Amino acid sequence: METQTAKILDGKALAATIQQELATTIAELQPKIGRPPGLAVLMVGDNPASAAYVKNKEKAGAKVGIASFGQHFPTQTSQTVLEEVIAELNQDEQVDGILVQLPLPKHLDAISLLHKIAPDKDADGLHPINLGKLVRGETGLRSCTPAGVMRLLEEYKIPLVGKQAVVVGRSILVGKPMALMLLEADATVTIAHSRTQDLKTITQNADILIAAAGIPGLITAQMVKPGAVVIDVGINRVTDSSGKSRLIGDIDFAATASVAEYITPVPGGIGPMTVAMLLQNTVSSYLQTTRN
Ligand code: ADP
Repeated sequence: METQTAKILDGKALAATIQQELATTIAELQPKIGRPPGLAVLMVGDNPASAAYVKNKEKAGAKVGIASFGQHFPTQTSQTVLEEVIAELNQDEQVDGILVQLPLPKHLDAISLLHKIAPDKDADGLHPINLGKLVRGETGLRSCTPAGVMRLLEEYKIPLVGKQAVVVGRSILVGKPMALMLLEADATVTIAHSRTQDLKTITQNADILIAAAGIPGLITAQMVKPGAVVIDVGINRVTDSSGKSRLIGDIDFAATASVAEYITPVPGGIGPMTVAMLLQNTVSSYLQTTRN
């Protein structure tokens, strides 16, 4: 058994600190603004993983003083009904953030729903306007998971300028915005994906390695450069030999922790940071309303 020499990037602890700060900000501002921030998490159907995420987000929101306008719809809900709900929430002055929990049941068009969310209430940062602002390096609401990764790297003062950053995965939720944020931070960025040849040669060059492919154990210790900073965005539920279910990442944590300089755990790494960034986006939209 190798010894773990890597330092842990503690997303859980940092998320708790951020949430305390948000709670203080909200407590201060609420009397002036006359209402708490509001977040509407829309969930369709009963995917158990999604239900757990939604519950988590609402619980974390309630803890910092964000009012929930969340709604839960049956699987067969139509596109039109959801569009009408979003249109109402866009107009609702109590609501600062709206998000549609993905994935949606097959008959629904997620892309077109995301287009309907008012860009200044787009708490998940997935509207084309906000993604476009990210491409241009303009301020805007940023996608929560990659924003959480950046915030964690910043907290631990990980140097990014001129570093080789490799993002494994090119999804619109994580990989693509992640690569753009690293680019914005002056890293030299490579994106690997399912058609990439010789992944190992690419990941071995990474000073910063971000795994976001959704494949348990995809990244082994042999694929990691000694001294690298390794970020695991994967959250995969697996059942072990004793029949117990647990969460593991895309990275073989035990072995990689003896090679890397820094590593994120799963759970307790990027997951909690994603929730913290969602609440932060909601509060930043709330603050915007005072400036109008
Ligand atoms: P997430 O929601 O974490 O972004 P998705 O499941 O939506 O994850 O996307 C998975 C991404 O991982 C895809 O962009 C895909 O190209 C990438 N991917 C899948 N398999 C591999 C692989 N073997 N190596 C690198 N990237 C991969």
